[in-house]
Amino acid sequence: MAYDYDPQNIFAKILRGEIPNKTVYENDHALAFEDIQPAAPVHVLVIPKGPYVCYDHFAQEASDAEIIGFTRAIGEVCRITGVQPSEGGLGFRVIANTGQAGVQEVPHLHVHILGGRVLGRMVAPA
Ligand code: 5GP
Repeated sequence: MAYDYDPQNIFAKILRGEIPNKTVYENDHALAFEDIQPAAPVHVLVIPKGPYVCYDHFAQEASDAEIIGFTRAIGEVCRITGVQPSEGGLGFRVIANTGQAGVQEVPHLHVHILGGRVLGRMVAPA
Protein backbone atom coordinates (compact mmCIF):
# COMPACT_ATOMS: atom_id res chain seq x y z
CA MET A 1 0.00 0.00 0.00
CA ALA A 2 1.41 3.38 -1.01
CA TYR A 3 1.91 6.13 1.55
CA ASP A 4 -0.61 8.96 1.53
CA TYR A 5 1.06 12.25 2.50
CA ASP A 6 -1.05 14.79 4.41
CA PRO A 7 0.04 18.31 3.31
CA GLN A 8 -1.66 19.81 6.38
CA ASN A 9 0.69 18.15 8.87
CA ILE A 10 2.55 20.51 11.19
CA PHE A 11 5.97 20.06 9.58
CA ALA A 12 4.54 20.78 6.12
CA LYS A 13 3.24 24.04 7.62
CA ILE A 14 6.71 24.78 9.04
CA LEU A 15 8.24 24.16 5.58
CA ARG A 16 5.72 26.58 4.01
CA GLY A 17 6.57 29.22 6.64
CA GLU A 18 3.07 29.13 8.11
CA ILE A 19 4.40 28.19 11.56
CA PRO A 20 7.66 29.62 12.99
CA ASN A 21 10.61 27.45 13.93
CA LYS A 22 14.06 27.86 15.45
CA THR A 23 16.19 26.86 12.47
CA VAL A 24 19.53 25.21 13.21
CA TYR A 25 20.52 24.41 9.61
CA GLU A 26 19.00 24.37 6.13
CA ASN A 27 20.06 23.22 2.67
CA ASP A 28 18.23 22.61 -0.63
CA HIS A 29 16.72 19.34 0.56
CA ALA A 30 16.43 19.51 4.35
CA LEU A 31 15.52 21.75 7.26
CA ALA A 32 16.75 21.27 10.84
CA PHE A 33 15.08 23.02 13.77
CA GLU A 34 14.79 22.76 17.53
CA ASP A 35 12.11 20.45 18.94
CA ILE A 36 9.39 22.47 20.66
CA GLN A 37 9.46 20.11 23.67
CA PRO A 38 13.13 19.17 24.08
CA ALA A 39 13.83 15.84 25.75
CA ALA A 40 17.56 16.54 26.11
CA PRO A 41 19.88 19.59 26.13
CA VAL A 42 20.32 19.02 22.38
CA HIS A 43 17.10 18.04 20.61
CA VAL A 44 16.96 18.94 16.94
CA LEU A 45 14.57 17.62 14.29
CA VAL A 46 15.81 17.15 10.74
CA ILE A 47 13.19 16.88 8.00
CA PRO A 48 13.39 16.48 4.22
CA LYS A 49 11.73 19.25 2.20
CA GLY A 50 9.90 16.70 0.04
CA PRO A 51 6.56 15.05 0.96
CA TYR A 52 7.68 11.85 2.66
CA VAL A 53 5.69 10.28 5.49
CA CYS A 54 8.45 8.27 7.11
CA TYR A 55 11.93 6.88 6.67
CA ASP A 56 11.12 3.83 4.56
CA HIS A 57 8.97 6.00 2.26
CA PHE A 58 11.93 8.39 1.84
CA ALA A 59 14.51 5.61 1.44
CA GLN A 60 12.48 3.98 -1.32
CA GLU A 61 11.21 7.02 -3.25
CA ALA A 62 13.51 10.01 -2.67
CA SER A 63 16.08 10.99 -5.29
CA ASP A 64 19.78 10.49 -4.66
CA ALA A 65 20.15 14.28 -4.28
CA GLU A 66 17.42 14.38 -1.60
CA ILE A 67 19.00 11.49 0.30
CA ILE A 68 22.43 13.12 0.17
CA GLY A 69 21.06 16.52 1.21
CA PHE A 70 19.12 15.05 4.12
CA THR A 71 22.03 12.92 5.33
CA ARG A 72 24.47 15.83 5.06
CA ALA A 73 22.06 17.97 7.09
CA ILE A 74 22.21 15.41 9.91
CA GLY A 75 26.00 15.65 9.83
CA GLU A 76 25.88 19.44 9.89
CA VAL A 77 23.54 19.47 12.89
CA CYS A 78 25.91 17.16 14.77
CA ARG A 79 28.76 19.54 13.96
CA ILE A 80 26.84 22.71 14.84
CA THR A 81 25.53 21.35 18.15
CA GLY A 82 28.91 19.94 19.16
CA VAL A 83 27.72 16.43 19.95
CA GLN A 84 30.33 14.64 17.80
CA PRO A 85 32.65 12.41 19.85
CA SER A 86 35.42 13.16 17.32
CA GLU A 87 35.34 16.79 18.46
CA GLY A 88 35.07 16.14 22.18
CA GLY A 89 31.26 15.87 22.30
CA LEU A 90 29.44 13.32 24.43
CA GLY A 91 27.84 11.59 21.45
CA PHE A 92 24.21 11.49 20.41
CA ARG A 93 21.28 9.38 19.28
CA VAL A 94 19.36 9.58 16.01
CA ILE A 95 15.76 8.38 16.17
CA ALA A 96 13.15 8.09 13.43
CA ASN A 97 9.84 7.09 14.98
CA THR A 98 7.59 5.44 12.42
CA GLY A 99 3.93 4.49 12.47
CA GLN A 100 2.00 2.99 15.34
CA ALA A 101 4.76 0.84 16.84
CA GLY A 102 7.24 3.70 16.62
CA VAL A 103 4.70 6.12 18.13
CA GLN A 104 5.08 8.66 15.32
CA GLU A 105 3.16 11.85 16.10
CA VAL A 106 3.83 13.92 12.97
CA PRO A 107 3.37 12.18 9.58
CA HIS A 108 6.29 13.88 7.83
CA LEU A 109 9.66 12.13 8.05
CA HIS A 110 11.80 13.57 10.81
CA VAL A 111 14.81 12.34 12.68
CA HIS A 112 15.43 13.42 16.24
CA ILE A 113 19.05 14.22 17.10
CA LEU A 114 19.37 13.97 20.85
CA GLY A 115 22.44 14.70 22.93
CA GLY A 116 24.05 16.84 25.58
CA ARG A 117 23.60 14.23 28.31
CA VAL A 118 23.84 10.46 28.73
CA LEU A 119 20.53 9.26 27.28
CA GLY A 120 20.12 5.85 28.90
CA ARG A 121 19.33 2.61 27.14
CA MET A 122 17.72 2.73 23.70
CA VAL A 123 14.42 0.96 24.39
CA ALA A 124 12.82 0.08 27.71
CA PRO A 125 12.65 -3.69 28.30
CA ALA A 126 9.26 -5.22 27.40
P1 5GP B 1 7.41 11.98 16.83
O1 5GP B 1 6.75 11.35 18.01
O2 5GP B 1 6.47 12.14 15.66
O3 5GP B 1 8.69 11.29 16.46
O4 5GP B 1 7.87 13.41 17.32
C1 5GP B 1 7.33 14.62 16.89
C2 5GP B 1 8.11 15.71 17.57
O5 5GP B 1 7.71 16.93 17.01
C3 5GP B 1 7.89 15.82 19.08
O6 5GP B 1 9.16 15.67 19.74
C4 5GP B 1 7.29 17.20 19.27
O7 5GP B 1 7.76 17.85 20.43
C5 5GP B 1 7.72 17.92 18.00
N1 5GP B 1 6.79 18.96 17.57
C6 5GP B 1 5.46 18.85 17.43
N2 5GP B 1 4.94 20.00 16.98
C7 5GP B 1 5.97 20.85 16.81
C8 5GP B 1 6.06 22.20 16.37
O8 5GP B 1 5.08 22.85 16.02
N3 5GP B 1 7.32 22.76 16.34
C9 5GP B 1 8.43 22.05 16.70
N4 5GP B 1 9.60 22.69 16.64
N5 5GP B 1 8.38 20.78 17.13
C10 5GP B 1 7.15 20.18 17.19
